[in-house]
Amino acid sequence: MKPKLSWDSPVQFLKSVGPARARSLARLGVETVGDLLSHYPRRYFDRTTATPVGRLVVGKEATVEGEVLTVSERRTRRAGTIQTLAVGDGTGVVFCVWFNQRFLLKQFQPGRRVLLSGMVRRHQGKLQMAHPDFEVQEPQAAPAGSEQGAGEGAHTPVTLNSGRVVPVYGLTSGVGQHWLRALVWQALQGLDEVGKRVWPDPLGPGLCRRRGLPDLRTALRHIHFPPDTEALRLAHRRLVYQEFYLIQVLMARRRAGRLRQPGVVLAAPGDLTRQLVRALPFDLTGAQRRVLKEILADLRSGQTMHRLLQGDVGSGKTLVAFIAALFVIEQGYQAVLMAPTEVLARQHGQTLQKLAAPLGVAVEVLTGSTSRSTRRAILAAAAAGETDLLVGTHALIQDGVHLPRLALSVVDEQHRFGVEQRVRTTGGKGALDQPHVLVMSATPIPRSLSLTLYGDLELSLIDQLPAGRQPITTHLVDDRQEERVWQACRQEMVAGRQVYVVHPVIEETEGQDLKSAVGEFERLAGEVFPEHQVALLHGKLKPAEKNDIMARFAAGQVDLLVATTVVEVGLDVPNATAMVIHNPERFGLAQLHQLRGRVGRGRAASRCWLVVDGQLGADARQRLDFFAATLDGFALAEEDLRRRGPGDAWGTRQHGAPGFCLANPLRDAELFQICRQDARDLLEREPALDGEDGPRVLAALGAAFGAQWLSHGSG
Ligand code: ADP
Ligand code: MG
Repeated sequence: MKPKLSWDSPVQFLKSVGPARARSLARLGVETVGDLLSHYPRRYFDRTTATPVGRLVVGKEATVEGEVLTVSERRTRRAGTIQTLAVGDGTGVVFCVWFNQRFLLKQFQPGRRVLLSGMVRRHQGKLQMAHPDFEVQEPQAAPAGSEQGAGEGAHTPVTLNSGRVVPVYGLTSGVGQHWLRALVWQALQGLDEVGKRVWPDPLGPGLCRRRGLPDLRTALRHIHFPPDTEALRLAHRRLVYQEFYLIQVLMARRRAGRLRQPGVVLAAPGDLTRQLVRALPFDLTGAQRRVLKEILADLRSGQTMHRLLQGDVGSGKTLVAFIAALFVIEQGYQAVLMAPTEVLARQHGQTLQKLAAPLGVAVEVLTGSTSRSTRRAILAAAAAGETDLLVGTHALIQDGVHLPRLALSVVDEQHRFGVEQRVRTTGGKGALDQPHVLVMSATPIPRSLSLTLYGDLELSLIDQLPAGRQPITTHLVDDRQEERVWQACRQEMVAGRQVYVVHPVIEETEGQDLKSAVGEFERLAGEVFPEHQVALLHGKLKPAEKNDIMARFAAGQVDLLVATTVVEVGLDVPNATAMVIHNPERFGLAQLHQLRGRVGRGRAASRCWLVVDGQLGADARQRLDFFAATLDGFALAEEDLRRRGPGDAWGTRQHGAPGFCLANPLRDAELFQICRQDARDLLEREPALDGEDGPRVLAALGAAFGAQWLSHGSG
């Protein structure tokens, strides 16, 4: 007996798919019937309502049905080609243009009927669509859907390609639009024939009803072949919901697992904290006080804290971390603070040692350049419980540090680490196996995304900068105005302040006329600022050299620091008031924001220049103008996301987290909130996911993300 068609059947199970076509489909990521149905349309042709050319509206998308009148091609001055097609329907003529798409010419013989879909523009008085989606109608006799005979035997209804809202898929060579439509249709019909039970719906009927969403079977039929726009909207909503829901269940599961782990219970804060706050030259901001309360409540709750502390650059996260550490230290416990780079670890070490010394709190710093003998001594002191706070780079602290009374680990600049890494900390034995975890991050990712990525963490927000800060003024300038920029920098230095000059590359490379840090360092030190102390900092220097240069800059012995993006993260030299960024178009908005955040940390006004050499594209200019006018890190991160799309901006690929197909956490924020709650509710109802709804979710999670994601489930 022939095995039945199922979600997991290889696509070759379907009619008209042989080994060659299967290979082509695999290039689209389609190997099984389930993959095929998850290959959602990129867009749709609304063929229920073709617009007569005479009624097209400029600036609107439209679908037009007409006859090819002329086909032509010409060369551009830059050795490219432009293909032009004139299409008429008796009410007018619309021109379609493509660039460098010679192969299109063959398909459009005059007299053929075509469907076009795209944005309508007016160009030199004529109606135009630039690279529209199109479809050439088959000559009358052949049934629609038979592209190179591929629809054979599939009983494809004629209505798949016309007279309805029609899906437009991403294609690859060997996979045509009509053929793919017929194949998807065949899969939908085939599964239906097998029976309703073959649809592996991760959302149970109860949940669907409660949220007014269609079941999976309906959603997939409608996302591929929508009967009308409302059905399409619901199908889309339901599939977005499902993507969010699966990830949120994963997150909720981790969270639930943690809540069951007992944490070190702390008593009320003692005298150390009060002493520190009294000695500070400034008051804590309201936001700092609020998040400290949230942290303290966690520490006293009896459960292990897993909290994300978000705050824009310069908002004072380090101090919050230190006070949190004091909470545990004054009760006789130990804490660690981990930083992503050696330079930053050193800086934290120095800052905190200064604050800690008068309190009699022992802070040690451990990095890659710590000498062997010192390292041995530090490890021994830590293991003996003599060290209260150990500061260091992430990797070092994770490897073989033994802290018998560890109760808190703080991870700074979380976005530099992978998702999985953040909670893997080495603790002592026994009751202290599970230290409280505080993760800190500026805003490399927008709030809406961080909720997704860190959905298992509680969130604290420092949404206020310390008093007395002056906004940074940002100027976008041409490199011909460079002299003026140097003049302004000179004034800062004469007034005793310091300057950063940032370049995207360390050294000049052939074929690229980018100014480099090394080249500019020589020019600035030798010719432009011979009377000032100029130093160079980049990633290829030895750790000891880097530390030395940073220490001298922090101590005010260096006036101007020429650097690469090594200064991007975390550096805190409040006396620096000017930043010059060369080739800013090379950086993302979030990264520029981090760089600019190195200034504006004291009471004096700060300035930032973006120096552009040569021409900027319109897009790049817009982006940089937006940056110059915006100081809010959240706004910049969201703009980055809008420009680059969730895939890139999320940057999950390198973190190894599963992505979204349809869902967009920005656009779908409201749905996302609902999902998060539904996921937490499910875990409360079925902690082991073994009740009425859990198993179907588990199955879908396994299929979507693989077993390794599940095994992290309760960790
Ligand atoms: P970030 O949040 O970017 O890590 P930092 O912790 O480096 O910020 O703090 C930036 C600067 O602000 C530091 O020099 C710090 O001493 C100072 N600072 C922190 N809290 C306050 C406050 N409440 N008032 C004034 N300055 C503060
Ligand atoms: Mg910081």
